[in-house]
Amino acid sequence: MSRLRTEVPGPRSRELSARRKAAVAAGVGSTLPVFVDHAEPGLLVDVDGNRLIDLASGIAVTGVGNPAPRVAAAVHEQVDRFTHTCFMVTPYEGYVEVCERLAELTPGAHDKRSVLLNSGAEAVENAVKIARRATGRAGVVVFDHAYHGRTNLTMALTAKEMPYKHGFGPFTPGVRRVPGSYPLLDGLNGVEAARRAVAAVERPEEVACVVVEPVQGEGGFVVPASGFLPELARWCREHGVLLVADEIQTGFCRTGSWFASDHESVVPDLVTTAKGIAGGLPLSAVTGRAEVMDAVHAGGLGGTYGGNPLACAAALGAVDTMRELDLNAAARRIEAVALPRLRDLPGVVEARGRGAMLAVELASAEVAGRVAARCHQAGVVVLTCGTRGNVIRLLPPLVIPDELLAEGLDVLEGAMA
Ligand SMILES: *Cc1c(COP(=O)(O)O)cnc(C)c1O
Repeated sequence: MSRLRTEVPGPRSRELSARRKAAVAAGVGSTLPVFVDHAEPGLLVDVDGNRLIDLASGIAVTGVGNPAPRVAAAVHEQVDRFTHTCFMVTPYEGYVEVCERLAELTPGAHDKRSVLLNSGAEAVENAVKIARRATGRAGVVVFDHAYHGRTNLTMALTAKEMPYKHGFGPFTPGVRRVPGSYPLLDGLNGVEAARRAVAAVERPEEVACVVVEPVQGEGGFVVPASGFLPELARWCREHGVLLVADEIQTGFCRTGSWFASDHESVVPDLVTTAKGIAGGLPLSAVTGRAEVMDAVHAGGLGGTYGGNPLACAAALGAVDTMRELDLNAAARRIEAVALPRLRDLPGVVEARGRGAMLAVELASAEVAGRVAARCHQAGVVVLTCGTRGNVIRLLPPLVIPDELLAEGLDVLEGAMA
Protein backbone atom coordinates (compact mmCIF):
# COMPACT_ATOMS: atom_id res chain seq x y z
CA MET A 1 0.00 0.00 0.00
CA SER A 2 1.30 3.42 -0.94
CA ARG A 3 1.20 4.75 2.63
CA LEU A 4 3.75 2.15 3.64
CA ARG A 5 7.46 2.42 2.89
CA THR A 6 8.55 -0.74 4.68
CA GLU A 7 7.00 -3.79 6.24
CA VAL A 8 5.24 -3.04 9.55
CA PRO A 9 7.03 -2.76 11.92
CA GLY A 10 9.97 -1.48 9.84
CA PRO A 11 13.70 -1.78 10.53
CA ARG A 12 14.02 1.38 12.61
CA SER A 13 11.05 0.35 14.79
CA ARG A 14 12.57 -3.10 15.21
CA GLU A 15 15.84 -1.56 16.37
CA LEU A 16 13.96 0.54 18.92
CA SER A 17 12.01 -2.53 20.05
CA ALA A 18 15.31 -4.26 20.81
CA ARG A 19 16.44 -1.27 22.90
CA ARG A 20 13.07 -1.16 24.59
CA LYS A 21 13.37 -4.82 25.63
CA ALA A 22 16.48 -4.03 27.63
CA ALA A 23 15.04 -0.94 29.34
CA VAL A 24 11.23 -1.08 29.56
CA ALA A 25 9.45 -3.49 31.91
CA ALA A 26 8.11 -6.54 30.10
CA GLY A 27 4.70 -6.06 31.74
CA VAL A 28 4.04 -2.96 29.62
CA GLY A 29 2.51 -4.17 26.36
CA SER A 30 2.07 -2.51 22.97
CA THR A 31 -0.62 -3.49 20.49
CA LEU A 32 1.53 -2.57 17.51
CA PRO A 33 5.25 -2.07 18.12
CA VAL A 34 5.85 0.72 15.61
CA PHE A 35 7.53 3.76 17.11
CA VAL A 36 5.77 6.98 16.24
CA ASP A 37 7.61 10.00 14.91
CA HIS A 38 4.67 12.40 14.49
CA ALA A 39 0.96 12.47 13.72
CA GLU A 40 -1.17 14.02 10.99
CA PRO A 41 -4.98 14.18 10.83
CA GLY A 42 -6.11 10.55 11.07
CA LEU A 43 -2.56 9.24 10.63
CA LEU A 44 0.38 8.15 12.76
CA VAL A 45 3.73 8.48 10.95
CA ASP A 46 6.32 6.05 12.26
CA VAL A 47 10.11 6.29 12.40
CA ASP A 48 10.39 4.32 9.15
CA GLY A 49 8.18 6.82 7.33
CA ASN A 50 5.11 4.56 7.26
CA ARG A 51 1.81 6.43 7.46
CA LEU A 52 -0.62 4.36 9.53
CA ILE A 53 -4.34 5.02 9.58
CA ASP A 54 -5.32 5.66 13.19
CA LEU A 55 -8.54 3.91 14.21
CA ALA A 56 -7.61 3.90 17.90
CA SER A 57 -6.91 7.52 18.94
CA GLY A 58 -4.54 6.20 21.61
CA ILE A 59 -7.58 4.47 23.21
CA ALA A 60 -10.22 7.17 22.70
CA VAL A 61 -7.97 10.04 23.75
CA THR A 62 -7.08 12.15 20.71
CA GLY A 63 -10.61 12.52 19.34
CA VAL A 64 -10.04 16.23 18.72
CA GLY A 65 -6.92 15.61 16.59
CA ASN A 66 -3.30 14.77 17.29
CA PRO A 67 -2.16 17.40 17.92
CA ALA A 68 -5.31 19.52 17.68
CA PRO A 69 -4.23 23.07 16.77
CA ARG A 70 -6.13 24.72 19.62
CA VAL A 71 -4.79 22.22 22.15
CA ALA A 72 -1.23 22.75 20.94
CA ALA A 73 -1.58 26.55 21.01
CA ALA A 74 -3.06 26.53 24.52
CA VAL A 75 -0.28 24.29 25.83
CA HIS A 76 2.43 26.41 24.16
CA GLU A 77 1.01 29.53 25.72
CA GLN A 78 0.76 27.93 29.16
CA VAL A 79 4.17 26.24 29.14
CA ASP A 80 5.88 29.63 28.86
CA ARG A 81 3.90 31.14 31.75
CA PHE A 82 4.24 28.39 34.38
CA THR A 83 4.15 24.61 34.33
CA HIS A 84 3.13 23.77 37.89
CA THR A 85 2.30 25.28 41.24
CA CYS A 86 0.16 22.48 42.72
CA PHE A 87 -3.42 23.68 43.02
CA MET A 88 -3.34 22.66 46.70
CA VAL A 89 -0.48 25.12 47.29
CA THR A 90 -1.40 28.11 45.10
CA PRO A 91 -4.36 27.89 42.71
CA TYR A 92 -4.72 29.15 39.12
CA GLU A 93 -7.64 30.03 36.88
CA GLY A 94 -7.36 27.17 34.37
CA TYR A 95 -8.37 24.58 36.98
CA VAL A 96 -11.48 26.55 37.91
CA GLU A 97 -12.39 27.06 34.26
CA VAL A 98 -12.16 23.33 33.50
CA CYS A 99 -14.47 22.63 36.48
CA GLU A 100 -16.90 25.25 35.16
CA ARG A 101 -16.94 23.56 31.75
CA LEU A 102 -17.48 20.15 33.36
CA ALA A 103 -20.46 21.55 35.27
CA GLU A 104 -21.95 22.87 32.02
CA LEU A 105 -21.34 19.78 29.90
CA THR A 106 -22.01 16.80 32.17
CA PRO A 107 -25.61 15.52 32.42
CA GLY A 108 -28.08 17.41 34.61
CA ALA A 109 -28.72 21.08 35.37
CA HIS A 110 -28.14 20.79 39.14
CA ASP A 111 -25.40 22.54 41.11
CA LYS A 112 -22.12 20.66 40.58
CA ARG A 113 -18.53 20.56 41.83
CA SER A 114 -15.46 18.85 40.37
CA VAL A 115 -12.06 17.62 41.47
CA LEU A 116 -9.29 17.23 38.87
CA LEU A 117 -6.85 14.32 38.87
CA ASN A 118 -4.40 12.66 36.51
CA SER A 119 -5.67 9.31 35.29
CA GLY A 120 -8.94 7.53 34.80
CA ALA A 121 -8.22 5.04 37.56
CA GLU A 122 -7.50 7.89 39.94
CA ALA A 123 -10.84 9.48 39.07
CA VAL A 124 -12.71 6.24 39.76
CA GLU A 125 -10.85 5.80 43.07
CA ASN A 126 -11.87 9.31 44.07
CA ALA A 127 -15.49 8.79 43.04
CA VAL A 128 -15.64 5.80 45.40
CA LYS A 129 -13.96 7.80 48.19
CA ILE A 130 -16.47 10.59 47.75
CA ALA A 131 -19.46 8.22 47.59
CA ARG A 132 -18.34 6.46 50.77
CA ARG A 133 -17.83 9.72 52.63
CA ALA A 134 -21.13 11.19 51.44
CA THR A 135 -23.24 8.12 52.21
CA GLY A 136 -21.39 6.73 55.22
CA ARG A 137 -21.60 3.33 53.52
CA ALA A 138 -18.77 1.15 52.19
CA GLY A 139 -20.20 -1.16 49.50
CA VAL A 140 -19.57 -0.77 45.78
CA VAL A 141 -21.57 -2.54 43.07
CA VAL A 142 -19.98 -3.17 39.65
CA PHE A 143 -20.81 -5.29 36.63
CA ASP A 144 -19.62 -8.27 34.68
CA HIS A 145 -17.25 -7.16 31.88
CA ALA A 146 -16.52 -3.88 33.70
CA TYR A 147 -13.24 -2.04 33.30
CA HIS A 148 -12.35 0.76 35.70
CA GLY A 149 -8.53 0.74 35.86
CA ARG A 150 -5.41 -0.90 37.19
CA THR A 151 -4.84 0.52 40.70
CA ASN A 152 -5.69 -1.68 43.68
CA LEU A 153 -9.22 -0.40 44.20
CA THR A 154 -9.98 -0.22 40.48
CA MET A 155 -8.57 -3.72 39.87
CA ALA A 156 -11.20 -4.88 42.35
CA LEU A 157 -13.83 -3.12 40.23
CA THR A 158 -12.47 -4.43 36.91
CA ALA A 159 -13.84 -7.82 35.85
CA LYS A 160 -11.20 -9.33 33.60
CA GLU A 161 -8.59 -11.42 35.36
CA MET A 162 -5.93 -11.71 32.65
CA PRO A 163 -4.01 -9.46 32.18
CA TYR A 164 -5.40 -6.81 34.53
CA LYS A 165 -5.61 -8.65 37.88
CA HIS A 166 -3.66 -11.88 37.53
CA GLY A 167 -1.37 -12.34 40.53
CA PHE A 168 -1.90 -8.78 41.78
CA GLY A 169 -4.25 -9.47 44.70
CA PRO A 170 -5.42 -9.29 47.41
CA PHE A 171 -7.97 -6.71 46.40
CA THR A 172 -10.05 -4.30 48.43
CA PRO A 173 -13.14 -5.91 50.01
CA GLY A 174 -16.71 -4.63 49.77
CA VAL A 175 -17.10 -4.94 46.00
CA ARG A 176 -20.14 -6.81 44.67
CA ARG A 177 -20.11 -7.83 41.00
CA VAL A 178 -23.49 -8.37 39.36
CA PRO A 179 -24.64 -9.18 35.82
CA GLY A 180 -25.14 -6.17 33.53
CA SER A 181 -26.87 -5.87 30.17
CA TYR A 182 -25.23 -7.64 27.23
CA PRO A 183 -28.12 -7.99 24.77
CA LEU A 184 -26.29 -10.38 22.44
CA LEU A 185 -25.61 -12.84 25.26
CA ASP A 186 -28.51 -12.41 27.69
CA GLY A 187 -31.43 -11.58 25.40
CA LEU A 188 -33.00 -9.45 28.14
CA ASN A 189 -34.58 -6.05 27.68
CA GLY A 190 -33.07 -3.20 29.64
CA VAL A 191 -35.51 -3.23 32.54
CA GLU A 192 -35.23 -7.01 32.94
CA ALA A 193 -31.44 -6.80 32.92
CA ALA A 194 -31.44 -4.00 35.50
CA ARG A 195 -33.84 -5.91 37.78
CA ARG A 196 -31.66 -9.02 37.51
CA ALA A 197 -28.63 -6.87 38.43
CA VAL A 198 -30.11 -5.24 41.51
CA ALA A 199 -31.72 -8.49 42.67
CA ALA A 200 -28.16 -9.77 43.16
CA VAL A 201 -27.38 -6.98 45.65
CA GLU A 202 -28.12 -8.47 49.08
CA ARG A 203 -28.02 -5.38 51.31
CA PRO A 204 -28.64 -2.15 49.37
CA GLU A 205 -28.55 -0.17 52.63
CA GLU A 206 -24.81 -0.93 52.85
CA VAL A 207 -24.03 0.17 49.29
CA ALA A 208 -22.41 3.56 48.72
CA CYS A 209 -22.48 3.50 44.93
CA VAL A 210 -23.05 1.61 41.72
CA VAL A 211 -20.26 2.22 39.22
CA VAL A 212 -21.31 1.69 35.61
CA GLU A 213 -19.89 2.35 32.15
CA PRO A 214 -22.85 3.63 30.09
CA VAL A 215 -21.28 1.78 27.15
CA GLN A 216 -18.73 -0.79 28.32
CA GLY A 217 -15.25 -0.18 26.93
CA GLU A 218 -12.52 -2.79 27.46
CA GLY A 219 -15.28 -5.32 28.22
CA GLY A 220 -16.33 -5.36 24.56
CA PHE A 221 -18.06 -2.10 23.58
CA VAL A 222 -21.26 -3.46 25.01
CA VAL A 223 -24.22 -1.11 24.61
CA PRO A 224 -26.77 -1.93 27.31
CA ALA A 225 -30.34 -2.58 26.22
CA SER A 226 -32.37 0.62 26.32
CA GLY A 227 -34.02 1.11 29.69
CA PHE A 228 -31.17 -0.53 31.62
CA LEU A 229 -29.51 2.67 32.79
CA PRO A 230 -32.75 4.52 33.68
CA GLU A 231 -33.99 1.53 35.72
CA LEU A 232 -30.64 1.32 37.49
CA ALA A 233 -30.82 5.06 38.25
CA ARG A 234 -34.34 4.62 39.61
CA TRP A 235 -33.25 1.78 41.92
CA CYS A 236 -30.28 3.85 43.13
CA ARG A 237 -32.57 6.75 44.06
CA GLU A 238 -34.97 4.43 45.84
CA HIS A 239 -32.19 2.98 48.01
CA GLY A 240 -30.06 6.07 48.62
CA VAL A 241 -27.26 4.57 46.51
CA LEU A 242 -25.17 6.96 44.40
CA LEU A 243 -24.96 6.29 40.67
CA VAL A 244 -21.43 6.78 39.34
CA ALA A 245 -21.22 6.89 35.54
CA ASP A 246 -17.71 5.99 34.42
CA GLU A 247 -17.62 8.07 31.23
CA ILE A 248 -13.86 7.87 30.90
CA GLN A 249 -13.99 6.19 27.49
CA THR A 250 -17.45 7.32 26.40
CA GLY A 251 -17.23 11.01 27.30
CA PHE A 252 -16.49 14.13 25.31
CA CYS A 253 -18.37 13.48 22.05
CA ARG A 254 -17.10 9.93 21.53
CA THR A 255 -20.60 8.42 21.31
CA GLY A 256 -22.18 11.35 19.46
CA SER A 257 -23.28 13.26 22.54
CA TRP A 258 -21.25 14.94 25.25
CA PHE A 259 -21.72 11.93 27.49
CA ALA A 260 -23.17 8.49 26.80
CA SER A 261 -25.58 8.91 29.74
CA ASP A 262 -27.26 11.61 27.63
CA HIS A 263 -28.58 9.03 25.15
CA GLU A 264 -31.01 7.81 27.78
CA SER A 265 -31.39 11.09 29.67
CA VAL A 266 -29.79 9.52 32.72
CA VAL A 267 -28.44 11.98 35.28
CA PRO A 268 -25.75 10.28 37.38
CA ASP A 269 -24.82 11.58 40.84
CA LEU A 270 -21.12 11.42 39.97
CA VAL A 271 -19.40 11.28 36.58
CA THR A 272 -15.79 10.24 36.01
CA THR A 273 -14.00 11.60 32.95
CA ALA A 274 -10.48 11.27 31.51
CA LYS A 275 -9.25 10.01 28.09
CA GLY A 276 -10.87 12.41 25.59
CA ILE A 277 -10.95 15.36 27.99
CA ALA A 278 -7.64 17.05 27.16
CA GLY A 279 -6.45 16.07 23.68
CA GLY A 280 -3.77 13.72 25.01
CA LEU A 281 -2.52 15.48 28.12
CA PRO A 282 -3.06 13.53 31.32
CA LEU A 283 -6.15 14.84 33.06
CA SER A 284 -9.17 13.29 34.73
CA ALA A 285 -12.05 14.48 36.84
CA VAL A 286 -14.89 13.56 39.14
CA THR A 287 -17.89 15.82 38.69
CA GLY A 288 -20.97 15.51 40.82
CA ARG A 289 -23.82 16.92 42.82
CA ALA A 290 -22.56 19.78 44.97
CA GLU A 291 -23.91 18.30 48.20
CA VAL A 292 -22.28 14.92 47.49
CA MET A 293 -18.91 16.35 46.43
CA ASP A 294 -18.84 18.85 49.28
CA ALA A 295 -19.52 16.16 51.86
CA VAL A 296 -15.77 15.54 51.82
CA HIS A 297 -13.76 17.40 54.48
CA ALA A 298 -11.24 20.06 53.40
CA GLY A 299 -7.96 18.45 52.34
CA GLY A 300 -9.63 15.06 51.75
CA LEU A 301 -9.21 15.24 47.97
CA GLY A 302 -6.30 16.24 45.77
CA GLY A 303 -2.85 15.20 44.64
CA THR A 304 0.41 16.87 43.61
CA TYR A 305 -0.29 16.98 39.88
CA GLY A 306 -4.09 16.80 39.73
CA GLY A 307 -5.36 19.47 37.35
CA ASN A 308 -1.87 20.37 36.15
CA PRO A 309 -1.95 23.76 34.38
CA LEU A 310 -0.76 22.37 31.02
CA ALA A 311 -3.43 19.68 31.13
CA CYS A 312 -6.09 22.27 32.03
CA ALA A 313 -5.04 24.52 29.15
CA ALA A 314 -5.20 21.51 26.84
CA ALA A 315 -8.68 20.60 28.10
CA LEU A 316 -9.99 24.10 27.43
CA GLY A 317 -8.51 23.95 23.90
CA ALA A 318 -10.02 20.50 23.41
CA VAL A 319 -13.53 21.54 24.51
CA ASP A 320 -13.35 24.63 22.27
CA THR A 321 -12.42 22.32 19.39
CA MET A 322 -15.35 19.98 20.14
CA ARG A 323 -17.76 22.90 20.04
CA GLU A 324 -16.24 24.67 17.06
CA LEU A 325 -16.08 21.54 14.89
CA ASP A 326 -19.30 20.03 16.31
CA LEU A 327 -17.62 16.75 17.08
CA ASN A 328 -20.86 15.23 18.39
CA ALA A 329 -22.19 15.49 14.84
CA ALA A 330 -18.87 14.16 13.54
CA ALA A 331 -19.16 11.08 15.78
CA ARG A 332 -22.71 10.45 14.61
CA ARG A 333 -21.54 10.74 10.99
CA ILE A 334 -18.82 8.18 11.64
CA GLU A 335 -21.47 5.81 13.03
CA ALA A 336 -23.70 6.38 10.01
CA VAL A 337 -20.86 5.59 7.60
CA ALA A 338 -19.12 2.80 9.45
CA LEU A 339 -21.76 0.78 11.31
CA PRO A 340 -23.61 -0.42 8.18
CA ARG A 341 -20.29 -1.45 6.67
CA LEU A 342 -19.35 -3.34 9.82
CA ARG A 343 -22.71 -5.15 9.78
CA ASP A 344 -21.98 -6.38 6.26
CA LEU A 345 -18.55 -7.80 7.02
CA PRO A 346 -18.23 -11.57 6.66
CA GLY A 347 -17.90 -13.55 9.88
CA VAL A 348 -19.34 -10.90 12.18
CA VAL A 349 -21.33 -12.21 15.14
CA GLU A 350 -22.53 -8.70 16.00
CA ALA A 351 -21.62 -5.15 14.93
CA ARG A 352 -22.51 -2.56 17.56
CA GLY A 353 -21.60 0.70 19.19
CA ARG A 354 -22.52 4.35 19.41
CA GLY A 355 -21.01 7.23 17.51
CA ALA A 356 -17.30 6.73 16.93
CA MET A 357 -17.14 3.90 19.49
CA LEU A 358 -17.81 0.91 17.25
CA ALA A 359 -16.98 -2.76 17.36
CA VAL A 360 -17.45 -6.12 15.75
CA GLU A 361 -17.74 -9.20 17.92
CA LEU A 362 -16.13 -12.20 16.22
CA ALA A 363 -16.22 -15.95 16.81
CA SER A 364 -13.09 -16.13 18.96
CA ALA A 365 -10.07 -14.27 20.28
CA GLU A 366 -7.97 -16.20 17.80
CA VAL A 367 -9.96 -14.81 14.85
CA ALA A 368 -9.95 -11.28 16.28
CA GLY A 369 -6.20 -11.49 16.81
CA ARG A 370 -5.63 -12.62 13.22
CA VAL A 371 -7.84 -9.86 11.81
CA ALA A 372 -6.13 -7.22 13.94
CA ALA A 373 -2.67 -8.47 12.90
CA ARG A 374 -3.64 -8.24 9.21
CA CYS A 375 -4.90 -4.70 9.71
CA HIS A 376 -1.64 -3.78 11.43
CA GLN A 377 0.46 -5.27 8.62
CA ALA A 378 -1.61 -3.23 6.16
CA GLY A 379 -0.96 -0.06 8.15
CA VAL A 380 -4.24 0.35 10.05
CA VAL A 381 -4.18 0.67 13.84
CA VAL A 382 -7.12 -1.21 15.37
CA LEU A 383 -7.52 -2.57 18.89
CA THR A 384 -9.17 -5.66 20.28
CA CYS A 385 -11.25 -5.83 23.47
CA GLY A 386 -13.83 -8.00 25.19
CA THR A 387 -13.68 -10.29 28.18
CA ARG A 388 -13.02 -13.14 25.73
CA GLY A 389 -10.76 -10.95 23.55
CA ASN A 390 -12.98 -11.62 20.54
CA VAL A 391 -13.97 -8.05 19.69
CA ILE A 392 -12.30 -5.63 17.26
CA ARG A 393 -12.97 -2.06 18.29
CA LEU A 394 -12.74 1.16 16.33
CA LEU A 395 -12.11 4.49 18.03
CA PRO A 396 -11.18 6.79 15.14
CA PRO A 397 -10.28 10.39 15.83
CA LEU A 398 -13.51 12.36 15.50
CA VAL A 399 -11.71 14.59 12.99
CA ILE A 400 -10.62 11.71 10.74
CA PRO A 401 -10.93 12.66 7.05
CA ASP A 402 -13.71 10.66 5.31
CA GLU A 403 -11.35 9.06 2.81
CA LEU A 404 -9.07 7.73 5.54
CA LEU A 405 -11.99 6.24 7.44
CA ALA A 406 -13.19 4.60 4.23
CA GLU A 407 -9.71 3.30 3.49
CA GLY A 408 -9.36 1.93 7.01
CA LEU A 409 -12.69 0.11 6.68
CA ASP A 410 -11.58 -1.29 3.30
CA VAL A 411 -8.53 -2.76 5.00
CA LEU A 412 -10.64 -4.24 7.79
CA GLU A 413 -12.96 -5.74 5.20
CA GLY A 414 -9.99 -7.25 3.36
CA ALA A 415 -8.63 -8.63 6.63
CA MET A 416 -11.96 -10.30 7.42
CA ALA A 417 -12.36 -11.84 3.99
C1 LIG B 1 -9.41 3.64 30.42
C2 LIG B 1 -10.47 3.53 31.39
C3 LIG B 1 -10.24 3.69 32.76
C4 LIG B 1 -8.86 3.88 33.34
O1 LIG B 1 -8.25 5.05 32.86
P1 LIG B 1 -6.67 5.23 33.02
O2 LIG B 1 -6.42 6.65 32.60
O3 LIG B 1 -6.03 4.23 32.10
O4 LIG B 1 -6.33 4.97 34.44
C5 LIG B 1 -11.32 3.63 33.62
N1 LIG B 1 -12.57 3.44 33.16
C6 LIG B 1 -12.84 3.30 31.85
C7 LIG B 1 -14.25 3.12 31.40
C8 LIG B 1 -11.80 3.32 30.92
O5 LIG B 1 -12.06 3.16 29.63
